[in-house]
Amino acid sequence: MTHDPNCIFCKIIEGKIPSRKVYEDDEILAFHDIHPWAPVHVLIVPKLHIPSMVELNDEHAPLMGRMTVLATKLMRELGVSNGFRTIVNTGADGGQEVYHLHLHAIGGPRPWAKG
Ligand code: 5GP
Ligand code: ZN
Repeated sequence: MTHDPNCIFCKIIEGKIPSRKVYEDDEILAFHDIHPWAPVHVLIVPKLHIPSMVELNDEHAPLMGRMTVLATKLMRELGVSNGFRTIVNTGADGGQEVYHLHLHAIGGPRPWAKG
């Protein structure tokens, strides 16, 4: 499935719901989390509707690699200079709330709201 009409991140990718974008290319969109846990909190999402890490296979390895490297680049560009966290929540026990795969990149001076 390339996109899911009921998925909030697919709607953001399609521009049907506004977001504060920080990066976009053919495969990936990154935008600020609406409820940030820290001074900088961006979500890096594939444009392809992949519900979670459970659905990943070998074909997705380059995409996940690009998303990871992008996290480092965006943290640098957004002024994060003292370390950051990258998190992917997967499934119910993983605390996933939005079932469109996303990488949280979280940084900035502590204290943070969570973590
Ligand atoms: P999860 O728990 O699935 O890993 O995280 C989902 C994240 O998406 C949460 O941090 C939440 O604040 C964020 N989020 C949910 N809905 C929206 C939205 O409409 N816009 C933006 N920018 N972030 C959202
Ligand atoms: Zn989606």
